[in-house]
Amino acid sequence: MTESLDQGNLPLPMIPQNRLVWNGFPLFHVDRFGKEFSGSLYFVLGQGLGDHVNGFRILHELQGRFSGAQFIVYADKRWEELVLRMGRIEVRWYPTALDPRSGKGTNDPYVQAHETIRKEMTSHPEEAFLAYDHFPMPDRHARGETTLEAISRTIGLDFRGKARPFLPVEEKDGAFADRFLREKGLERGAFALLAPFSWPNKRWSRERFSLLIDALYQKHKLRSLLVAYPELGSFENPGVVMAYDLSLGQIGGLLSRSGLFVGLDSGPSHMAAAFDLPMVVIFVERHTIPFEVRALSPFALHVVEGFERQDREPPTETVCEAVSFVWQNRKNLKEEIPLCPACGRAAHYVMGAISEDLDFMCVCGMKIHSERREPKFPLSASQKESFLPVSHLITMPSFSAPIILSDMNSPSSLGDLEADLEKGDRETVEVRMDLEESGPVLSVNTGKGVSAPFFRWSQDALILWMRKQGFVLKWVEQKSEREDWIYRFVKDKDEMQEQGGNSPVRIPWSDGFLRLSNGSDYLRWYSFEKWSSFSDLVGIVKSLSALGYDREAVEVAWVAVRAKLSSRSLRWFGKALYYRVVRRQQTSCM
Ligand SMILES: [Zn+2]
Repeated sequence: MTESLDQGNLPLPMIPQNRLVWNGFPLFHVDRFGKEFSGSLYFVLGQGLGDHVNGFRILHELQGRFSGAQFIVYADKRWEELVLRMGRIEVRWYPTALDPRSGKGTNDPYVQAHETIRKEMTSHPEEAFLAYDHFPMPDRHARGETTLEAISRTIGLDFRGKARPFLPVEEKDGAFADRFLREKGLERGAFALLAPFSWPNKRWSRERFSLLIDALYQKHKLRSLLVAYPELGSFENPGVVMAYDLSLGQIGGLLSRSGLFVGLDSGPSHMAAAFDLPMVVIFVERHTIPFEVRALSPFALHVVEGFERQDREPPTETVCEAVSFVWQNRKNLKEEIPLCPACGRAAHYVMGAISEDLDFMCVCGMKIHSERREPKFPLSASQKESFLPVSHLITMPSFSAPIILSDMNSPSSLGDLEADLEKGDRETVEVRMDLEESGPVLSVNTGKGVSAPFFRWSQDALILWMRKQGFVLKWVEQKSEREDWIYRFVKDKDEMQEQGGNSPVRIPWSDGFLRLSNGSDYLRWYSFEKWSSFSDLVGIVKSLSALGYDREAVEVAWVAVRAKLSSRSLRWFGKALYYRVVRRQQTSCM
């Protein structure tokens, strides 16, 4: 199985394969133009270093395909060294954005850029297009996409699940790195590069990094190279090397020579993702949705344990185990990161560790606990039984829980369940979400002794998995507050045939409800009971309006109002209605 987002059981993208207009800007689409296209393509790169190297990937790809086009790139001067390396571009610097070191800069550097682009486009309407900007697609959350994936899909670029940041490296970077390694006595590929600097709210503490450095040294004989700024202070740990105040090119050179990377939700992690480095990214801030901003690499684990704990900082033990995992499995890391049985994607998130075993999580919220310890001696059946790490599973708040199919005789594995559903004689299936966390956990027997993984389901995972079996959500019910939630699914074909099959579905989400007119709307753009909130519904309305999907915007706005009645949701319902009426009149007048 590949990690492509085009898995059969993910909803189809809402964005059609033709030209789109976003906030009045015509967007580029690769299918509409031949190699000879010679117009202007505008790039408004996001302000961060990570945004830049992600944007470079799309720029690099389009430069290769459309050699006669003009590439006009708005960028942040802080990343000048890399921007100028992209070649064949007209660079325009927007005002420098707020910086964690200086504390200075603007919050919205793009206003002037948009005005200028608008003017220039008006004078060449058929030759000028926006190719990169922060156009948030309304269905990107449901599809679990990063910004890079969502933007490339919008303009028709298909990286087949292999999108990666792009780092323009030069020979001198490598030469610098080799000199540096010689001076410090470091060996190529046998040291860890650590990037512990970011905004204060994204930092993992100095003390924890210090413990990680010692663990790397003692357990894996790996010396740590710290890339940061003098503000971080010096480290005295055995084997440690500090490299402060380097240029971006020099950091790139050192990354290309390192064996392992550990960083935060910040620029260097995206730079590291451009190489095939085993890497671990530590998420501390709960603010951002980690799947959206993750550094795109098939060799990365993202530790997000802080999302479910009092303490925002993931524990040192979890990070150390995640680091050990990527280092020990570096030869075949892609195969070792478990695949999610619900949606088919690799589970790149780490929610915790119990001794040497990691709790992985997929973008869809499915948790996979994988026993990695090899048994020291052959185990009897009953010993294996007692070895099942059910009690090790960490508990999930909200509506993520083990599932029990109430009309089946305790299936022993997910495979059994799939086989049963495949027989085709079931028209409806009811799934009970056990909120007490005490029910059985479905496991898959992989025939590898005790290494069978154990799953803990999220609502999204359940709906995706049932869809794979050919069932769609019909209704959700809780008889009383103490009882479990019942999810009733029906055979897809039956719902299609059913007259007026639009009975409303109430889906528990965080501490309230989504009331949808149809269960199959879920995961079209509504998603992520864990990482989303009701205010995100308004975000969907905004982006639908920006794209001119006015009918859909009114529908979602109404869902948002019913989910949470607030001045904000009402205001957006009003706006959506207004656009629908005004723009419909405009179209009919033309
Ligand atoms: Zn999944």
